[in-house]
This record gives sequence, structure tokens and C-alpha cells, in this order.
Amino acid sequence: MRMIMAILSSALLLLVDEACAQSTYSVSISRHASLKEPLGAKEIRNILKDASTMLQKNSESNGDADVGCNVTFSLKGPIRTFGSASTSTDIVDEQHRDAVHKIDSNVAGVDFHIKIVKEIPFCRPGLQGPFDGCSFPIHFRSIIVVDPSEHKDSLPTNVKYPDHLLWAHEFGHLTGLPHRHSKVALMTSCPVVKLLSASRVQVDKEECNCLLGGPGFCPLPAAVLNCQP
Ligand SMILES: [Zn+2]
Repeated sequence: MRMIMAILSSALLLLVDEACAQSTYSVSISRHASLKEPLGAKEIRNILKDASTMLQKNSESNGDADVGCNVTFSLKGPIRTFGSASTSTDIVDEQHRDAVHKIDSNVAGVDFHIKIVKEIPFCRPGLQGPFDGCSFPIHFRSIIVVDPSEHKDSLPTNVKYPDHLLWAHEFGHLTGLPHRHSKVALMTSCPVVKLLSASRVQVDKEECNCLLGGPGFCPLPAAVLNCQP
């Protein structure tokens, strides 16, 4: 009897584990020196907090197509600056892109790195830029994103660029997630700014498994879906 109880309770524990699966990722941040209004530590912490809250959704699930995904991002270490104020990152080809991915990749004890730049003209062969974010190729565990101040001219004055969606979307790619055609999915094939009209940005159960598994956990498909207007 005692044996059966022990087996039962360990099975229960496994169930609980599955339901409460959670992952916390530490992130290092570096900004390019040419940014005129670079994000500060407080703003960066807020973006990471908003990205975590958006994914967790108070653990409320609307079914397998729209789950609360218990992922938390936290800033680690000091925010670094790279490059010089008078030069651009010139991400015009694979070599320049990889050079930016490699910057500060020696920061120890972090799960992935974010580099904030002015513009990303090139990300992946065959894709038409410019891009708001680039995490390809994913083995660098590095995400390049455009500073929100660079979007100001293209957005109405009362609209704030959704950095938390961009950063979480690019992290999704790092875990191996591809795009999908959807106006409400975090992994939308369209610019994430379009998700501002969604009442709840969706992550499905399979995507959440990749996000919980972390960088490189799922195999990134070779084909890329482009936005269908
Ligand atoms: Zn994408």
C-alpha cells in the first residue's frame, strides 16, 4: 500500500511539474554608441518585464492555441556600449551581421544577448530588409534589435513601439520557432507593430514548449514565411 502511495505521489508530482513548467532567462544588453536616445537600464528592465508579463498572461489559458507561457526575462550585468558614435554598424551582409552577433558574446552566465542598433538592412539571404530585429543564425544566441527611437517617425505620436513584442518574437526564433500566418500570434510573419491591434498576443502550446526549452531547443525550419499583405 505504502509503495502504491509512493508511486502515486511521484506521478502526481510529475503532473504538477508539467503544469508549472517555467523558465527564467538572463539577458545581457549592449547598445551601439551612435544611438542618440539610447534606452536606459530602467526602460530595458521594463521591456523585459512587459515581455515576461505578455507571455505569462497570469497563467490564464484560452486553450492549446493560446496558452499562458511561464517565461521570465531578467537583465544581467551592466549595459554595455559598443562601436563608436561616428560609425554605423553597417549590417549589410553576413560578415557584418555576425560581427555584431559576436560582440559581448563573452559575457558569462547569460542565456542570450541583445544588441541595440540604429538599423538592420540585412538579416538573412533571400529576405528583403530593412528589419526591426534579427536573430539569425541562432547559434550565436544573440538578437539584434532596432532602437525604438528609430521608429518614431513612422509611428503616430501616441503610439509606442512594442519592443517587448519584438524582443519576445526574436527570442522565439532563438528557441527555433518559425513564423506563422496570423494577425494575433507572437510569431507572426508580419512586423510585430501590427500586433498592437490584438487584444491578446497568442502563443500556442507547441510554441510555449520551445520557449520553455530555451535557445536551440527546437529545430528552426529552413523556410521563412513572409508577411502576406
Ligand atoms: Zn521573425
